[in-house]
Amino acid sequence: MTKAASVLHWFRLDLRLHDNLALRNAINEAENRKHILRPTYVLDPDIKNKVGRNRLKFLIQSLRDLDANLRKINSRLFIIKGRAVDCLPQLFEKWQVKFITLQVDIDPELVKQDEVIEKICEEKDIFMVKRVQHTVYDFNTTLRNNNGNVPLTYQKFLSLVASTQVKDTIEITKQVSEDCKGSEFDSKDDDISLLDDLGFTEEDLNECKYPGGETEGLKRLNTYMTKKQWVCNFEKPNTSPNSIEPSTTVLSPYISHGCLSSKLFYHKLKEVESGMKHSSPPVSLLGQLMWREFYYTAGAGTENFDKMVGNPLCTQIPWKKNEEYLKAWAEGRTGYPFVDAIMRQLKQEGWIHHLARHMVACFLTRGDLWVSWEEGAKVFEDYLLDYDWSLNAGNWMWLSASAFFYKYYRVYSPIAFGKKTDKEGLYIRKYVPELKKYPSEFIYEPWKAPKSTQMAAGCIIGQDYPKRIVDHDKVHKDNIQKMNAAYKLKKENKTLKRKR
Ligand code: FAD
Repeated sequence: MTKAASVLHWFRLDLRLHDNLALRNAINEAENRKHILRPTYVLDPDIKNKVGRNRLKFLIQSLRDLDANLRKINSRLFIIKGRAVDCLPQLFEKWQVKFITLQVDIDPELVKQDEVIEKICEEKDIFMVKRVQHTVYDFNTTLRNNNGNVPLTYQKFLSLVASTQVKDTIEITKQVSEDCKGSEFDSKDDDISLLDDLGFTEEDLNECKYPGGETEGLKRLNTYMTKKQWVCNFEKPNTSPNSIEPSTTVLSPYISHGCLSSKLFYHKLKEVESGMKHSSPPVSLLGQLMWREFYYTAGAGTENFDKMVGNPLCTQIPWKKNEEYLKAWAEGRTGYPFVDAIMRQLKQEGWIHHLARHMVACFLTRGDLWVSWEEGAKVFEDYLLDYDWSLNAGNWMWLSASAFFYKYYRVYSPIAFGKKTDKEGLYIRKYVPELKKYPSEFIYEPWKAPKSTQMAAGCIIGQDYPKRIVDHDKVHKDNIQKMNAAYKLKKENKTLKRKR
């Protein structure tokens, strides 16, 4: 008996059923051809070494939710362990795959992997359909509309997409027919134990501030979209980096994993804003989503976007390697309570406010520690639930004034900045409990507290909490000079190139 042929949808950063055109293509194709439908996720075992525990947890939850949602339409998720380039060709044989659908991604590692898979598909006569569905706009079209050039400013980007009609999102609700399920539908042969493989127990998943999955993502979106006035009044600079509960939506982990479609978010925002007086980009919520589009377009059109060397957008700044500074920063031990609180929140919860990211990114690079943004981006990659290749690199370049933003002399103060929205230091007290009993007067600068106050608060600086790693007042001024020199050199090199 000849084996039934299959249609495979390869899930990557599209862990959802809504607005998943590639998945719908796979379902339709399976139905039309009377093939078996194989919704598949490939879990690279190396992920354990690359991704922090919070993000792994989010991924496990998202995959479980995806499976549950697929079962609601009479299908299921196959999770296959291995490197995609090794195990997909084996699956193509085993399952007699004739048709594969997937989402277009721009992370160079995924792009390289896709090229290999695409070639194998060509050789095996497997038809491949790729869909751009991680962004509102097709970044390749935007780049083409700008003659292949990267739009270097947000406003330029907005002008390029201004007349583009954003298509409606689709929903997949129709039951997959029994013919497409295949005889081994209920077999556990292809199942892996996500928990065992990634080193988690069921209990580990319980304690979680932002649980992963499409269901949670949609719920979170709907909660915010019912607060119409809040959405319409939203202005990013008026939100707070150090509120105990987030002052922005925290939709980013869901959007980054593809549990929530950015296009659906876009349409919902348009719906809420319609007929209402509302804020506008760049500060509105829609404006935030457009920042994401901007960085995606820049990332798609720039070689070595996540690196300094070989990246045409990035100013070459002579950062210094300093493992001690980097470690102290990453572990929240700089001796600056606001910076340490942010880094500890990041490590514990996997999410921090945008302006908190500003604070710590500036501090690590041009502000205080003079360590390369590439090092900071790696730490964020490890800890952030919402890690996203282009958004992380783009924002790090912005904050280190390496690209997009050039006012390098505007430096965040690790003392004054946090005070603006949290005078009493409640946020610091939560994430740096050693300082919990410090008087508000010293909570941002505990080294200034007299010994008797330190003793009364039960925390001696230099003993129970680190002495500050650098003197901000001094180093930030020196660093401005160094930035000035790097910018000058860049200008001179440009002039020389033009003369040649
Ligand atoms: P909201 O303010 O509610 O905004 C809604 C959505 O808009 C977000 O979910 C996000 O998808 C998008 N968005 C908001 N701000 C930005 C921005 N500045 N750039 C691009 N998109 C934005 N965001 C990531 O998703 N992944 C990253 O890896 C990432 N790395 C960052 C690194 C640094 C150094 C900095 C300064 C920012 C980074 N950001 C990153 C951008 C931003 O901080 C987060 O997207 C935002 O804080 C997420 O919280 P939210 O969902 O509550 O945002």
